[in-house]
Amino acid sequence: MAKKLIINARINEWMMRAPNRHVPWTADEIAEDAARCREAGAALVHVHARNADGSANHSPEAYQDLTGKIRGRSDILIHATLGNLHVEGDETRISHVGEARPDLATIDIGSTNRDVYDGAAHSFTTTDRIYRNSTGSCLFFAQEMARLGVKPHVACWTVPFLRTLEAFIDLGALAEPVVAQMVLSGGGDLSAHPPTPAGLEAFFHALPDPRRIEWTVCALDANIFPAAAVAIARGGHVAPGIGDYPYPELGYPSNAALVAEIVKLAKAMGREVATPEEARAMLGMPTRAD
Ligand code: ZN
Repeated sequence: MAKKLIINARINEWMMRAPNRHVPWTADEIAEDAARCREAGAALVHVHARNADGSANHSPEAYQDLTGKIRGRSDILIHATLGNLHVEGDETRISHVGEARPDLATIDIGSTNRDVYDGAAHSFTTTDRIYRNSTGSCLFFAQEMARLGVKPHVACWTVPFLRTLEAFIDLGALAEPVVAQMVLSGGGDLSAHPPTPAGLEAFFHALPDPRRIEWTVCALDANIFPAAAVAIARGGHVAPGIGDYPYPELGYPSNAALVAEIVKLAKAMGREVATPEEARAMLGMPTRAD
């Protein structure tokens, strides 16, 4: 039987509610949305804490509140962000992980420019947005997560990130199986690989072999389905969400409706979806009771 597919629902990021009004912001909305995604077939939910007006909330209390509420509604595994672009200091940046104890947390294992190019206007909308993740910061985050029993969810924006990931395994800083997320980006966001089958396939040549990697794909500001089909065919996993892209092609769906479309595609291609407990075992995570 084919390996089960782990779906990680990227439900909100920093997305506002135009044009897709379904983006959850508050802890109650996030918990409700996560439970619906779980019912639809997601095993993980990736969350960013937001205030009631949609602004970012990086406080440990906000993450404590939302992890408590998500766990009160379903058994979906919680994957918290560390992508707080404007939070200074490694200890501050990871403080919510220690307080809220999500099941997984992101390590973006390298730096990239997050400026958007507006092709219609022939100009960059910004020219100085550096998403800075030094090797030292990433080593610190990996060490902290190991201490806290939180599984690193390692985001690879380009091939050199994957090479750093391999070095971290060699160093003993990341334990196998490593969860790696191949990041694709569209819509003028030039920070990652193009959101195409070729953009995803370009990572495959650099996948550390014979290391044990469970990889997934996300698509920032782009429709994930072309890459999702490749990931499903090639034994990877998929991380869709209206936090990344509003999906006008599907009539601006909810996260659960989007997850249901991925489940449908996976089933048609011969892969069933993993439950949170199955995902936990596949990703080498201890059970919550441990
Ligand atoms: Zn995120």
